Amino acid sequence: MDNATLIQRDLAAVWHPCTQMKDHEWLPLIPIRRGEGVWLEDFDGKRYLDAISSWWVNLFGHGNPRINAALRTQLDQLEQVFLAGFTHEPVIELSERLLRLAPPGLARCFYADNGSSAVEVALKMSYHAWHNQGAADKTKFITLSNSYHGETLGALAVGDVALYKETYQPLLMQAITVPSPDCYQREPGSSWAEHSARLFEPMKTTLARHAHEVCAVIVEPLVQCAGGMRMYDPVYLQLLRAACDDYGVHLIADEIAVGFGRTGTLFACEQAHVTPDYLCLAKGLTGGYLPLSVVLTRENIYQAFYDEYASQRAFLHSHSYTGNPLGCRAALATLDIFASDNILERNKTLAKAMARATEQFIDHPHVAEVRQTGMILAVEMVQDKATRTPYPWQDRRGLRVYQQALQQGVLLRPLGNVIYFMPPYVITADEIDLMVQAAATSIDHATLN
Ligand SMILES: *Cc1c(COP(=O)(O)O)cnc(C)c1O
Repeated sequence: MDNATLIQRDLAAVWHPCTQMKDHEWLPLIPIRRGEGVWLEDFDGKRYLDAISSWWVNLFGHGNPRINAALRTQLDQLEQVFLAGFTHEPVIELSERLLRLAPPGLARCFYADNGSSAVEVALKMSYHAWHNQGAADKTKFITLSNSYHGETLGALAVGDVALYKETYQPLLMQAITVPSPDCYQREPGSSWAEHSARLFEPMKTTLARHAHEVCAVIVEPLVQCAGGMRMYDPVYLQLLRAACDDYGVHLIADEIAVGFGRTGTLFACEQAHVTPDYLCLAKGLTGGYLPLSVVLTRENIYQAFYDEYASQRAFLHSHSYTGNPLGCRAALATLDIFASDNILERNKTLAKAMARATEQFIDHPHVAEVRQTGMILAVEMVQDKATRTPYPWQDRRGLRVYQQALQQGVLLRPLGNVIYFMPPYVITADEIDLMVQAAATSIDHATLN
């Protein structure tokens, strides 16, 4: 089997996600035969360094021997059983361990099978909890501009990336959108903390005006990933937690992308010392092996549903593969690696190496900003450095970077004009240099004319 044969068969039968399929008339698909560590290998034997952790899911490399072994053992015992009325060891153990690791005050785990569904669960649960408590006017959600929470209609409605949302507007519930504390927008000379705190004012005003009709505020803690890796200071989350308490509104933390060490702490909320009312986790939860998601919530919210059946207060949401045993087993193996290999400490060294390697971009004539939060580092490519004028989206400069980097054996997948690095935690110092050098030549090439 070779690349060409598989590409031909694929394009006759498969419809790919997040893709204008016509692009593949000139942009080659890449069929992957195997993966090992940070490397992916295609059917012609070419290797690619996975600098984006296969859409932010992979933590400890492809084909990780320890996760593989845990899954093989689980496979011989139980592949799947439904979770209504039945249960299994992996889901019990995973719930116990997540509750021990998560910010204090979270007491219950509700499972789904992808990130968007976890967001749907949090939205419905928040509305329903208020409903069960007699707050019938609470039907709305507050979100930040430039946020992303997934592709299903509820999740899309509380997101704000026009590229994904605009077309579907007529189908979506109306969210209340307030300006993001995004520090790329800060005034020269002002710090991340100052800017983020100042941008809390519109949130505060909005809460004051709308709290009576609002179920929850939903945020991506510290990094708006799909919105171009835009970052903000933990102080915003502190202020938000306090205001949500004051105004009687839930806080939903969507840590689907930033959870599991991406921002430097196991969960991003830890950096603000806050506990959300709903913590949504997916992506890295299984180390990037299997689709699984979970929403952690508080005991008082669980109790708002706990009653005689006839009271009709139960949360009757479900998905077929809710809490799948294989997914839970992969998640347990992932947590084992965090515990035994001192990952968060080791990532500090890797994050520093990423910072050092990317210093070269700071003075690049077409780079407006190099920003970093833990194991996420982003480079903002612009047409004009002084005015920060972006390249027109029609130029597809990010796509040029993608193509150039692939030729050099590195998989980057820029978000518009933002080139970012979000590698698996098993990357080495040499591989970081290789990844960044490929980006450097690709950015030079993409900004040449
Ligand atoms: C990826 C992502 C989602 C959606 O998760 P899926 O598993 O792709 O449905 C939701 N929120 C955030 C912050 C994400 O990055």
